[in-house]
Amino acid sequence: MRDNRKTGIPRLWELASRKKALVICSCVLAAASVVASFSPFLAVYFIIKELVAHFADLSSLDAPYLTRLGWAACGGAASAIALNFSALMCSHIAAFTTLYELKLDFARHIASLSLGFHTANPTGKLRKVVDENIEKLEGFIAHQLPDLAGSLTMPLVTLVILFAFDWRLGLASLVPVALGYLIQAAAFGNSAARAFMKHYQDSLEDMNNAAVEYVRGISVIKAFNQTVFSFRKFHGIIKNYGKFCMGYTMAFEPYMAAFMLIINHVYLFLILAVIALSGGVTDYGGFALASVFYLIFSLSLPTPFTKLLYVSRLGGQIADGIARMDRVLDAAPLKETASPKTTREYSLSFEGVGFSYDGENEASALRGVTFTARQGEVTALAGPSGSGKSTIAHLIPRFYDVGEGAVKIGGVDVRDMSADYLMSIVSFVFQDVFLFKQSILDNIKIGDPNASREQIIAAARAAQCHEFAERLPDGYDTVVGTKNIHLSGGERQRVVIARAILKNAPVIVLDEATAFADPENEQKIQAAFEELMKDKTVIIIAHRLSTVRGADKILVVESGRIVEEGRHDNLINAGGRYSHMWEQYTGTVNWTITGKGAKPCSA
Ligand code: ADP
Repeated sequence: MRDNRKTGIPRLWELASRKKALVICSCVLAAASVVASFSPFLAVYFIIKELVAHFADLSSLDAPYLTRLGWAACGGAASAIALNFSALMCSHIAAFTTLYELKLDFARHIASLSLGFHTANPTGKLRKVVDENIEKLEGFIAHQLPDLAGSLTMPLVTLVILFAFDWRLGLASLVPVALGYLIQAAAFGNSAARAFMKHYQDSLEDMNNAAVEYVRGISVIKAFNQTVFSFRKFHGIIKNYGKFCMGYTMAFEPYMAAFMLIINHVYLFLILAVIALSGGVTDYGGFALASVFYLIFSLSLPTPFTKLLYVSRLGGQIADGIARMDRVLDAAPLKETASPKTTREYSLSFEGVGFSYDGENEASALRGVTFTARQGEVTALAGPSGSGKSTIAHLIPRFYDVGEGAVKIGGVDVRDMSADYLMSIVSFVFQDVFLFKQSILDNIKIGDPNASREQIIAAARAAQCHEFAERLPDGYDTVVGTKNIHLSGGERQRVVIARAILKNAPVIVLDEATAFADPENEQKIQAAFEELMKDKTVIIIAHRLSTVRGADKILVVESGRIVEEGRHDNLINAGGRYSHMWEQYTGTVNWTITGKGAKPCSA
């Protein structure tokens, strides 16, 4: 976690300072490049001066002197280019090494975060942080910092020249620049403009979200024949965004146009100043020389001043991206104990466990949860949706840490075990099946990276995968997710079960995953489960009561508490909450849908 919490440009500078020497070097070189870029102007000034002085008799011109000035102009321009090139070299090396280090830090940090963090922050979101937000820093370090150094040097050099030649004309060149910036500040610096800008960013985000939702949900939209309706909604959001942008543009365009107009036409102000000042002039030659010099010089002013404007704008956008990265970096990693313990016995116990997702006790997800799940037995968690079954299961492998009480395996608090050890003794079979784009063999091997091919195939057989794996074009070496290789939901689940069988962890947490399997698959998955669960401490999150009937112990969860506990028959006889749920459940499954509507099953 970061110690200090800088935001905005100071935070960007803090990150850039990881390669301070290179960044400073690049800024100094960029500033030197700007100074060198003035030399052609100075050379032109002295050439004009020489021409004006010998205007009456051009043969008296000091030709070697003029040649030297010509070379000085070329040399100055060439060194400005070389210095700028070197500045960009330094800044790019600094930028890419900083990005590299930052991405590594980020990857290390997210690996140290609890699994709970990862369920709340899907992969897509984290990928966006790495691919887009951190990437933006490259622009800041590689381009904007040297641009900023150059652009700040420019007014300083202008000030020096202002005093060196004719301060009145120098001032006439700077006044329009200052005016342009005042207009910018008046238009964009007030709270209304900032609110406008925020609204703009929000509407952009809304539109992007709507686009993603539309594309991701296209199959559902098509299945329900909602294409036109949904498209109209999406279209409406785009139209609103367009309307807002138009309003925004119309409101701010005059200010931007005024800024660009002024900054690109500094010479017009100069001409007015020259006309105004010409009345009192005695040395016409000197005045004409200074006027011509300033007119030429003024042409170089727009670029750095426009860059300066964009540096501050873009800096804000990049800082926003970095703030998103910082939100991830600020998430506290899972606490690791200094003296990790292990266990030889694997019964599981919850002792007065309280937990809430927001870290506060109000609206807590679990309260006073106490139970024991014995080794070699199946303990099922049953209860209505939202009662806290998944939360109980998630606390076992430390997706989250308990707020109060303790979760123990073999009498050892899971917080007193090392994360690696805990992961090695607990298998968690999720409801969402995730297969890597690798061969079936490699996907199963994740359960035990040291397993031999024979061991993997044995696990696959136990999980009822062998039959379909053999049928694939390259058997177990077929890569999942490639063209034309499609596994059904049930087959994917069995691959994941094979992974867990191979891992052979003594504690197994199963999120009952058979809900959408077809009857044949369901039977195979049950067989696979049975193989997996032999002699283990098994916790099942049951979403359907049929699964829990054979469990050694059923824990009935309601509103974050365990309200009943026992075997199926005992609980039915007790006539409490569970028996009521069972009645409802059997009532539901005995209904069937026919062509003429729903009617009770005869069987
Ligand atoms: P079940 O598995 O029984 O359906 P859960 O354990 O998922 O129930 O949820 C228990 C309670 O915790 C619910 O009120 C749910 O809204 C809340 N909850 C679940 N997951 C989260 C989460 N990641 N963040 C905040 N609240 C959550």
